[in-house]
Amino acid sequence: MNTAFPLFTNFPDDDAFETIVIGGGPAGCACALWLHKLGVRAWLVEASDALGGLQRRSPYENLWIPGVMGHSGEEVARALHHHIHVIGVPCHLNSRVSRIEAADGGFRVRVEGGTERGHYRTQHLVIATGTQPVTGHFRQAHNVAIGPGYPMENLEVGNRKIAILGGGDNAFDQARFVLQRGAKSVTIYSRTPPRAQTVLQAMIPQARVCIGPYTADQASMIVNEEVFDAFGVMYGFEAQLPDGLDQDLELKNENGFIAVNRQGETVLSGLWACGEVTDYWHPCVTTSAAHGIQVAKQISLRLGR
Ligand SMILES: Cc1cc2nc3c(=O)[nH]c(=O)nc-3n(C[C@H](O)[C@H](O)[C@H](O)COP(=O)(O)OP(=O)(O)OC[C@H]3O[C@@H](n4cnc5c(N)ncnc54)[C@H](O)[C@@H]3O)c2cc1C
Repeated sequence: MNTAFPLFTNFPDDDAFETIVIGGGPAGCACALWLHKLGVRAWLVEASDALGGLQRRSPYENLWIPGVMGHSGEEVARALHHHIHVIGVPCHLNSRVSRIEAADGGFRVRVEGGTERGHYRTQHLVIATGTQPVTGHFRQAHNVAIGPGYPMENLEVGNRKIAILGGGDNAFDQARFVLQRGAKSVTIYSRTPPRAQTVLQAMIPQARVCIGPYTADQASMIVNEEVFDAFGVMYGFEAQLPDGLDQDLELKNENGFIAVNRQGETVLSGLWACGEVTDYWHPCVTTSAAHGIQVAKQISLRLGR
């Protein structure tokens, strides 16, 4: 992965930015790209070592972006990374925003890690920190994968008994992939009638589906008194929020995501959010990127560009 972004060694520390965008997934990349092209001084800050967000977890072909075919999620992520780099959007990787505060008519963010750790002030702040798989009480391990994509693909499944916990699209998708990879059996545990699309459910008639309460124990690898070789935990996704936002309940909706209005702005003027962190319906690369673009346009209008 190319992480060779230009380094901003003479980083001004005061009011240097009109906008800081936190999170370099599809939403944050699209937002930062458009801000940059619209002439807004913007800085993209990403916690991991490459841009692309959740697409980096996906080895599967992404057939859902109109006009884009023949690329895996991971390749889509690499293309986003490359685009931001080539266009020259100021960006720092390995830089986690650990705290956000409202300050002096704008916002103050604390950045940890990377070469630019410190505090920065900005007029507008965009939260594009996306989501992470819900872990329940499980821990990622050699025999337990949490969330879809590479964690599941790295699980050894050949001729083994696999339990998939959860009843959504990802549970049924991953059950199918596990069977294709030679699992001896797959049992899906869903506390409520599965929410997965019926077409996905119909694709794996050989999977056993247990509906109702269950207890699953990682130490013994037992679900409802039955022993399994591996678990796939597909409990959905939850918002990733930097500290400061996390404690400010006013900014969150009933599901723990950031609440925004039609323009993508929170109840605090100048604090915006886009993509999956806002519970955007329906989350995918295209809607996340589109949301980021809408927010960029709103900010540029606010700044009179
Ligand atoms: C396995 C898998 C397969 C998928 N397949 C498809 C598909 O085929 N088609 C499709 O359209 N969608 C697919 N999706 C969904 C798609 O990837 C997401 O909808 C999209 O990535 C959401 O974009 P986002 O920018 O809102 O959030 P994310 O992609 O989650 O990006 C958020 C970014 O913010 C960063 N971040 C978080 N906290 C901080 C912080 N405090 N400081 C700095 N940075 C931070 C994260 O590191 C991350 O890079 C798939 C998802 C998965 C998991």
